[in-house]
Amino acid sequence: MPGKSISDESTQKRPQARALRRVEAEVETALKTPIDRRGFLKRLGAAGATATAAVATGGCTTSWDTFFQKHYKEMTDEDKERVFARIEKEAEKRFGRRVTVSDPGPLDGVSFAFCISLSLCNGNRKCVHACVEENNQSRNPAIQYIKVVELDRGTLNLEKGTAYYEGDSVPAADKVYLPMQCNQCDNPPCVKACPVEATWKEKDGIVVIDYDWCIGCRYCMAACPYEARRFNYREPQVPRADINPNQGYLSNRVRPKGVVEKCHFCLHRTRNGH
Ligand code: SF4
Ligand code: SF4
Repeated sequence: MPGKSISDESTQKRPQARALRRVEAEVETALKTPIDRRGFLKRLGAAGATATAAVATGGCTTSWDTFFQKHYKEMTDEDKERVFARIEKEAEKRFGRRVTVSDPGPLDGVSFAFCISLSLCNGNRKCVHACVEENNQSRNPAIQYIKVVELDRGTLNLEKGTAYYEGDSVPAADKVYLPMQCNQCDNPPCVKACPVEATWKEKDGIVVIDYDWCIGCRYCMAACPYEARRFNYREPQVPRADINPNQGYLSNRVRPKGVVEKCHFCLHRTRNGH
């Protein structure tokens, strides 16, 4: 029997079921990490204290809003407006730059695909750096969605290739180059692995992540056969001057520490025909 999709569930129960799954997964993940019970309870206590403080001051604080934010699929237009405004405000505070967070949806009758000409790629990694700039990827620690692997000409054995070649003198003699990133799989194992539905495949083929719903368990990273996902072990650092202010909620807005990210097909551009 095919897996029950979230869209099959009753609309009445969906938000509660999802929120419950997320809390359960958070607890499960915390219990599996090397943290003692006291540390775990302290973390729960800190979360509760933050929420309580928000109520006590009567203010609609960022932490309160974030704590009770709905899953992307359950947000109304009004919810999105409020959440996007909050993210824009946080970005301005953090980077001193005004940004715009948009949410272009899949276009009717459009499915995305991409091609790479391996005979033309010379391994200069310019696509890697353009992707970093477009998508506000952390410069320190460095996060890059595209990995270019250098292989011996006539082979495709990735275990014998390297992504750590010198880029000054490419193409090297008798070498070929293979850029690798998320393939937006038709039947993505990463999506099946996610315990809280923080990642899913959209109807135009793009596999997305709701960074505000991701609990950082990294099951999706283990499930991906292409090593296409990256985890933010530390707070991503992007210089103020390098921030791309044209941001998408499900794409290139600056991610928080502790969540997974990956190529999202520049949906803030591609879905607008750019
Ligand atoms: S992250 Fe990996 S498994 Fe998931 S869609 Fe991309 S390539 Fe496929
Ligand atoms: S780390 Fe991956 S599997 Fe875990 S919640 Fe985030 S998207 Fe889902």
